[in-house]
Amino acid sequence: MINIEILSNIDIDYYNFVVLSQDKDKWDVTTNIDGLKKKIEREAKKVKNKDDLEFISFIQKRLKTIVKGDINKLKKIQNIIEVKYTKVWKKIKSYNENAPKGKKRKFIYTILEKIFVTYGYESIISEKIAYKMLRKLDIKVCPYCNINYISFSGTNSNKGIRPELDHFYPKSHYPYFAVSFYNLIPSCRNCNGLKSNNFPKGLYSPYEISENNDDFKFKYIAKNINILSTSLNNIEKGIDKITFQKEIIANNKMFHLDDLYQVHKDVVAEVIWKNRNFPNVLRDSYKNFGISKREAYRIVFCNYSDVNEFNKRPLSKLTYDIQKYF
Ligand SMILES: [Zn+2]
Repeated sequence: MINIEILSNIDIDYYNFVVLSQDKDKWDVTTNIDGLKKKIEREAKKVKNKDDLEFISFIQKRLKTIVKGDINKLKKIQNIIEVKYTKVWKKIKSYNENAPKGKKRKFIYTILEKIFVTYGYESIISEKIAYKMLRKLDIKVCPYCNINYISFSGTNSNKGIRPELDHFYPKSHYPYFAVSFYNLIPSCRNCNGLKSNNFPKGLYSPYEISENNDDFKFKYIAKNINILSTSLNNIEKGIDKITFQKEIIANNKMFHLDDLYQVHKDVVAEVIWKNRNFPNVLRDSYKNFGISKREAYRIVFCNYSDVNEFNKRPLSKLTYDIQKYF
């Protein structure tokens, strides 16, 4: 897994449009829409139960944090919901997609689903701004696996393809986070499919890890002397397993990373070879070529070395964790 860093004000523009229906030109939207704020006000009138009403009022008061708060703020909101609104949380939690029709969801769940999932996510985000938002984020490789490119064609859902948006807090169980900016993770079809409605304990979001998080660091286990060979094939045969500093981490299990990475032993073999035989001409004198140390790395390792650029090319983190140039 690699982190996502947001460098612009995209989350503020997002909030202004999704909630307040402002700045539609920033999203190339031509028609007027009702923002989420108005939608909640309308739907709240249908709620009669006292606990449910208090809950809706809490959601309204914290709407700004819910829509543009970072992942730690969302965790705090969730904590408050579980502690202070226990009765309502139980009703929301009781959603069961396998239950008979009419018994799948409680009334408060239906209201939240209508506001945040059907209207907020499907009608506003998915239909109107997902393309633009993903283009602005400019993430080229899935942050969950760092294996698959997430590609675009066209400019809207009628004519093109775009990366999927995974709900880190699944929208089926946490409907009020269905439009939360930092809950939407651009991802590949495989990872989004594997994650689906699952939300195991200990799962990390790409928005909450930092470059210092060694839990996601790759390493390899060598099985024999072949690793010292000069032949790439022999080095590859000498690698027993590509693994992680911390194997049990929930993300590695969720996205099958333990299995998926084993087919990339050839890449690790190349990096091991380059560690030993990094062309001296670049190692010692890259400045003579008018390039930086990072550019020399890119030329030799065919990948990026800056943690903020890992999202530009597959296997960037694997390569970086094994290399010994930096
Ligand atoms: Zn992926």
